[in-house]
Amino acid sequence: MDFTKIIGHEKIIEKLKNAIDKDEISHSYLLEGSESIGKKMVALSFAKTLLCKEGGLEPCNRCNSCLKFDNFNHPDFQLIEPEKDIIKKEKIDEFIKSINIAPLESKRKIIIIDDSHKMRVEGQNALLKTLEEPPAYMNIILIAPNRNNLIPTIQSRCQIITFYPVESKKIENLLVSNYDKTKEEAKFIAHFTKGSVGRAIYISQSEDFFQKRDEILNIIDSIINGDKLKIFNSIDFFIKNKDSYEEILDIILYWFRDLIIYKEIGESGLIINMDKVSLLSNQSFLNIDKINDIIEKIIETRESIERNVNYQLAIEAMLLSMQEV
Ligand SMILES: [Zn+2]
Repeated sequence: MDFTKIIGHEKIIEKLKNAIDKDEISHSYLLEGSESIGKKMVALSFAKTLLCKEGGLEPCNRCNSCLKFDNFNHPDFQLIEPEKDIIKKEKIDEFIKSINIAPLESKRKIIIIDDSHKMRVEGQNALLKTLEEPPAYMNIILIAPNRNNLIPTIQSRCQIITFYPVESKKIENLLVSNYDKTKEEAKFIAHFTKGSVGRAIYISQSEDFFQKRDEILNIIDSIINGDKLKIFNSIDFFIKNKDSYEEILDIILYWFRDLIIYKEIGESGLIINMDKVSLLSNQSFLNIDKINDIIEKIIETRESIERNVNYQLAIEAMLLSMQEV
């Protein structure tokens, strides 16, 4: 683990290296950005670099400190993560108790709190005192989707670093060269995961993702072509995949979005399901208004499911909206 393994985020890495170089490292950072985008990778690489005995701008990967860091047994480093979706206040209290013990091996002590928004307000308030007056050797790195997930007094104590989606091209190249994906598959995954490298890798390694997409596209195609029974015959598939409903609705959403692009400008680099152009072409008899209605319905369905509306009914209503009237 080091900066060279990270895809994208060059400006952020440069900024952090600059801070190391000028010895202007902040006591507390807040790394914000969407899920699996690379925040934790950057935080870990930064921490490892700061602890490395060589004191360079990249960890040396050879010294005692680097080796211990990679084995997650560096005495001056701590990673706190949620357990069962929550970071308990006791965890924070434990950490606060330990901060006055000077570092054992390095000049610094570093703590990363991943998903720090999963601390309740009491936990955040407890942490705040430490952020106000940290010992000179202490560096705290908080990770969250958005700064506003944390109380304002924490935000104002931290140097905030915002992560943006990684360019699709970079993710595509990574998937082709390291994850054995074809260009078309890589392109689909890169766009589908909206600049999140972690998600892209996860989908690349998931055996049934493309199979699932095929199944969904088959269901859509049958419904659009007037197979009225398909709606009810396919409900088992949606029930079986209830846990990944967001992914499934995204697949459907991107499909109809592609259909609009195909109708408006034809075969184009903007199409994500590039390997399915002939299927898009077969469905291009649908008119734009109808497709827009379907898209609205998909978005509505996602909101309904989030609000705990009956899942099966919500899905059935969405599939019904795809039928030609
Ligand atoms: Zn080292």
